[in-house]
Amino acid sequence: MVLLQISEPGQSPEPHQRRRAVGIDLGTTNSLVATVRSGTPETLLDNEEQHLLPSVVHYDATGEVAVGRFAYARSSSDPLNTLVSVKRFMGRGVEDIKTLGSQLPYEMVASGSSDSNNASGMPYFKTVAGNISPVAASAEILRVLVERAELALDGALDGAVITVPAYFDEAQRQATKDAATLAGVKVLRLLNEPTAAAVAYGLDQGGEGVIAVYDLGGGTFDISILRLSHGVFEVLSTGGDSALGGDDFDRALAQWIAEQAGLNEDLGPYEQRQLLIEARKAKELLSEQVQVKISVAGWSGVLDRNQLNTLIDPLIDKTLRSCKRALRDAGLKSNDVANVVMVGGSTRTLRVREKVADEFGQEPLVNIDPDRVVAIGAAIQADVLVGNKPGDEMLLLDVIPLSLGIETMGGLMEKIIHRNTTIPVAKAQDFTTFKDGQTAMSIHVLQGERELISDCRSLARFELRGIPAMVAGAAKIRVSFQVDADGLLNVSAKELTSGIEAHIEVKPSYGLNDDDVTRMLKESYTHAREDMQLRALREQQVDADRMYEDLLAALNEDGRQLLNDDEYHCLEVALKDLDKIRQSENHREIARHIEMVSKTSEEFAARRMNASIQKALAGHSLDDVEKDV
Ligand code: ADP
Ligand code: MG
Repeated sequence: MVLLQISEPGQSPEPHQRRRAVGIDLGTTNSLVATVRSGTPETLLDNEEQHLLPSVVHYDATGEVAVGRFAYARSSSDPLNTLVSVKRFMGRGVEDIKTLGSQLPYEMVASGSSDSNNASGMPYFKTVAGNISPVAASAEILRVLVERAELALDGALDGAVITVPAYFDEAQRQATKDAATLAGVKVLRLLNEPTAAAVAYGLDQGGEGVIAVYDLGGGTFDISILRLSHGVFEVLSTGGDSALGGDDFDRALAQWIAEQAGLNEDLGPYEQRQLLIEARKAKELLSEQVQVKISVAGWSGVLDRNQLNTLIDPLIDKTLRSCKRALRDAGLKSNDVANVVMVGGSTRTLRVREKVADEFGQEPLVNIDPDRVVAIGAAIQADVLVGNKPGDEMLLLDVIPLSLGIETMGGLMEKIIHRNTTIPVAKAQDFTTFKDGQTAMSIHVLQGERELISDCRSLARFELRGIPAMVAGAAKIRVSFQVDADGLLNVSAKELTSGIEAHIEVKPSYGLNDDDVTRMLKESYTHAREDMQLRALREQQVDADRMYEDLLAALNEDGRQLLNDDEYHCLEVALKDLDKIRQSENHREIARHIEMVSKTSEEFAARRMNASIQKALAGHSLDDVEKDV
């Protein structure tokens, strides 16, 4: 994430014509909207003077939709029709949901009833108002925030910067954009939450050094290690857990309460929700006081900070392990960090602050409201992007978490954009055809660090058709990868001699969470040697294939003219042997056969060369040849 100063042509407004732009923190638990007024960023209040909008959507049988506190209030009496934490489902597929699903009080179905061509396997919430997608529910939340802003700013919005966790992948980012489109608001940019927090703290104005942004919200945890130098933020590494947050504190506490109260394990959705609400209330109170009284289902007892700490310590430790990993990725130690910025409602829990202070050996910064800091940073960025600050334009860039590439011969992953490359980025690489007369090429887009495609994640496939028939290796196919500022990938392939082109916007049907990313990275390290050997084997297999195809074609073309029967037969046998061995896993055997075939065919190759030179020379004088060279 580099903070660059670049101007966007055509973005400057007419003088005196301020545009209406907002920053939106679309949170798992709470959402906020902020804007810059008279040079000062502020979060906007609703008519009850509240800046937090609970990210909860309630549907009733008449089709009426409620968002926010009212919806939250319905969550215990009508849990099946009250959608909470929808952000966890954004851009996820049915398969991803199954792991999260067991704890969910509402029902999910694999596709919308009214939407029969939902082939992507997108999960829907089953409500009395019909099947609702996570994108549609998020759009309801955005709509309320946009309305609030349009009321406050007295007019239609020109655009919004919406924040997403650093670990949101392409599908999750795309789902967020889709929600904005559905809500009718123009997205100026999706911005990583920790980056927004750094901007809110004005750290670009401050001294140089390494900054850690620790963001523990209701549903997600993000750690970002940034370096500020010459007024530019560079993200050295990111890490976290897209399924860990204050909600998990609540669940741990709810379970403890249930045990204390002797409540049955399999509570109904209503009781479950009630218990979670009580747990959360108690947890939040413990940030202010040393103990709280809890009463549920006829049981009452006392919970103190020590007990809470015991319950949540393992969860906090998990976040600290992510911090260690992120530091290691950045090649740093905790004492290299100059500042630790705290973001997210859960950093109000004192135990979190304590343990983070221990980990980094310093008190973290908590002076900006951890709820509002992200929305404020987004508002500052929106103000710039919409063109309200000509001459002071800056663009925040992010990095991609996993390498992107395509499948090449032998089932290998060829990386085109490496992980931790800052975006936006465009990279191209040239490939060629493998067979004579090949007129189509299949492009398989992958994400991951491993050498073999079976160990990487498949993102998309498409075909380039209509390549003019040429000999193998003559076509020049340029594959271009473009990742835009929002992290969305566009892949195109173009045959350069003919100009034919094909492209695809990659929108995978479901995403990776950060655990997957961590696992894939870890595997790439632990399997590095094995992968190298496998790559060598695959490359050898490809060489053998190429040799087989070439020789077969040559034999068919002029073997009979240039070879006597014995020679021809000899080569034919060698070729058959090669064919038998070329897909084997025996690296040495393949090498031996390649060697053998190349020896056996040496004479044939020489004769072919002579024949083709004679053909080329026929009818030309020596002068012509020299001129051509
Ligand atoms: P998100 O970004 O996921 O929407 P937030 O940053 O709004 O989340 O944080 C919500 C979480 O913060 C919830 O788990 C909530 O219980 C917790 N939280 C809010 N206030 C407090 C508090 N005073 N003490 C402890 N936790 C709190
Ligand atoms: Mg948040």
